Amino acid sequence: MKLTCWGAAGTVTGSMHLLELPNGKNILIDCGLNYENKNELVENNLHFPFPPKKIHAVILTHAHVDHCGNLPNLVRQGFEGPIFCTAATKELTYHLLEDSLSIQIMDSQKKQMTRKGKKVVKKPSKPLLYQYKHLHQTMALVREVEFHIPVSLFSDTQFTFYHAGHILGAASVFMETVEGNTKKTIGFTGDLGNYKSKLVRDPEPMPSPDFLVSESTYGGRYHSADNDPKDVLLHHIQKTCVGLSGKLIIPAFSVGRTQAIIFTLHQLYAEGKLPPIKIYSDSPLAIKTTGLYSQYINLLDQETQDFYKQYGEIFNFPNLHSLANKAHSEYISTDYEPCVIISAAGMVEGGRIQEHVKNNISNAFSTILIAGFCAEGTFGHQLLQGRQTVFINHKERRVMASIQKTDAFSAHPDHLGLLNYLKLTCGSITKKIFLVHADPFSSAALKQGIDFAPVEIASKGFTYEL
Ligand SMILES: [Zn+2]
Repeated sequence: MKLTCWGAAGTVTGSMHLLELPNGKNILIDCGLNYENKNELVENNLHFPFPPKKIHAVILTHAHVDHCGNLPNLVRQGFEGPIFCTAATKELTYHLLEDSLSIQIMDSQKKQMTRKGKKVVKKPSKPLLYQYKHLHQTMALVREVEFHIPVSLFSDTQFTFYHAGHILGAASVFMETVEGNTKKTIGFTGDLGNYKSKLVRDPEPMPSPDFLVSESTYGGRYHSADNDPKDVLLHHIQKTCVGLSGKLIIPAFSVGRTQAIIFTLHQLYAEGKLPPIKIYSDSPLAIKTTGLYSQYINLLDQETQDFYKQYGEIFNFPNLHSLANKAHSEYISTDYEPCVIISAAGMVEGGRIQEHVKNNISNAFSTILIAGFCAEGTFGHQLLQGRQTVFINHKERRVMASIQKTDAFSAHPDHLGLLNYLKLTCGSITKKIFLVHADPFSSAALKQGIDFAPVEIASKGFTYEL
């Protein structure tokens, strides 16, 4: 068996791991978009380092685009095999791929027209990674898989999904294959969830594998101990919306983060603690995704299921309003009424959140609460640097709003959570843990903490004989 990590090695995006089995079959675990550099999205993802026609099956851990976003391009280039994932991942994947394609189309159109002096010059249009027909062809290849039920891939190979936490439908993969007279096993954690996070279950350990490919996103970093999500939200609402009559603006990813925040606000409402202010969910993708979370209550954690039994609803409560319409979004953004606005994208790169930040960043009564990881180079990261001025649409603006950060809604385990998971999953038979899905600092820090199994930081494109 051979393993080659073609993405998320030394970085966090573009997850794509190739497993070459002794029976000559090739399996891809995830096929995500590398979006380290937004301006070179097509260049960085167009070509695969292997012939797509020679991949026999894809196993998809979850629906985030850095794990599924390049699947339609794989199909466009000749992949015809099955794509295995959970039913919830299938539905989320469709919405996320559609959203990703519409962003590609918008970017391509923007790049087509450039001004040269006063004359508008039309550039040759940039190619897209795929078209709508490839998205639909991709979805037709998807096979739904249940958690905990082994799926036979070939006569000598099977895999089983375990709950990864992280987002709705996310799975870890435990694979068993026979080589000669020997059974070999390999696990892929996919992205793991944060212990005790809202909505999703805690990550579930897999049976001890011979080899494990593990995420290491938060290696060397620790979530704050004092970060109960309800306390964090209530504190900022009281301070900004009640104390200052201002707006609390929360940039949040459309899948996972937005739902966790809305559920937490609903809990505060049910406990009678939420002040009578309006809460706006302002992302079309988040609105679709929130509906899907409600359809898969059986996959969510016990706290959510108990809440549903008591109140008959997870997300809907009187203070909550969804802004499907862009004009309404613009009105709310500049209106004086105190409110909470939850909008995408989480790193303040693209999406409606940009308008909310632009309209409120120079307002001393507003707070911008960053609720997730912001990669270096993103606008969210710039805000967290504590700058006094920032450039938005080429115009310098003073930062008068309060810029705050919380990791109470993190969707990944921290250093201690990762070590806990790895100790529970790895056993004496584990010959090697390969670390992926992190910057080099985080993987190195996690490696230092692992003294219960041999560990290696996976190198991109290097083939490991297992
Ligand atoms: Zn993810």
